[in-house]
Amino acid sequence: MSGEMSLKALVRVANRVRCDARFARRADPAGTFIACGRLGRAVLIAVVDRAGRGGSRKVKAAFETVERAYEAQGLRLQKPVSAEIVAIPIMGASKSLKDRHTLFVSVRAVESGMLDGLVAHEVGHMLRTEAGHPSHDPDVYGLIGREVRIPRAAEAAFGQGFNHIQDVYADDLAFLVFASDGGDRAYRFFASWIDGNAQSRGKNRWKNVGLAVSNGFAIGNLVRHELIDPDDGLWDRARAFDREAGFAAVDVFSEFFSNLPNEPSAGTFVGQVKALADLMTKAALT
Ligand SMILES: [Zn+2]
Repeated sequence: MSGEMSLKALVRVANRVRCDARFARRADPAGTFIACGRLGRAVLIAVVDRAGRGGSRKVKAAFETVERAYEAQGLRLQKPVSAEIVAIPIMGASKSLKDRHTLFVSVRAVESGMLDGLVAHEVGHMLRTEAGHPSHDPDVYGLIGREVRIPRAAEAAFGQGFNHIQDVYADDLAFLVFASDGGDRAYRFFASWIDGNAQSRGKNRWKNVGLAVSNGFAIGNLVRHELIDPDDGLWDRARAFDREAGFAAVDVFSEFFSNLPNEPSAGTFVGQVKALADLMTKAALT
C-alpha cells in the first residue's frame, strides 16, 4: 500500500525519538527504540507485615529515601522488591531470585533508628546481585565449594567470614548513600557490634574465630571508608577480645577486609575467599 513505511524506515524514525527528561529511553538489545518508560516506576511492590507489629509505612518511606539516594549516585535496581517485616533475631536480610528480591526487615530494625542504614545495606546486596559481581554470583559459589577446603568444625565460622566478604561489597555501595553525611553513624554502629561480640565470647575456638573475623570486618570496613584512626580505642577493644580468646587476629582480618579489590575477576575472588579461609585456620590453630 502506498504511504506505508517499510520496517527499515520505521526503525530509522523510531531511533530518532528522544524521550522527555522524566522518561527513560527503552530499546531492544540491538538498540532499536521501543518506548519511553516512566522514570521512578515502583521498585518496591509490597510491604508485608508478618510480625503484626506495624511499621509498613515506615519501611516504605525508608526504602524510597534510600532508593532516591542511590539514584543520585546513578544506581538503580532493575527488578522489583517486596519487603517483609518479620520477627527474626538479626537486623535484616535479603534474598534474590531471578526475577525479584525479597527484603526481610526485623521488628527491631523497624523500631531502631538504623532502618535506612539496613535498607541501604540490603539494597547494596541486591545491586551487586543484579550486576553479577563475583561476590554475589551463584556460579562463583559453586567454584568456592569445589576449591576452598575448610575443616568441618569451621563451617559456621567460615560462613560468617564469607558473609562479611559479601557485606564489604554491599557496603561499598551502601556507604555512598548512608555514611556520606559526615556523621559517625557507621562508626557507632560497628563499635556497638564489637562490644556485642565481646559478650558472646565462648570456649569454642572456632566460634571465637568467627567472632574475631566479625570484629575484623567491622574495623576493616571502617578503615576501608576512612572512618577510623589507627589509634582509635576500638582497636584495643577488638585486640582485647583476641587476647582473652588466646590468639591475635583482628589486625590481619581487618587488613584483609579493608583491602578487598573493588572489581575482582571470578578467579581473583575465589583466591580472596581462600586467603580468608587460611587466615581463619591459622588463627584457630595458634
Ligand atoms: Zn549483609
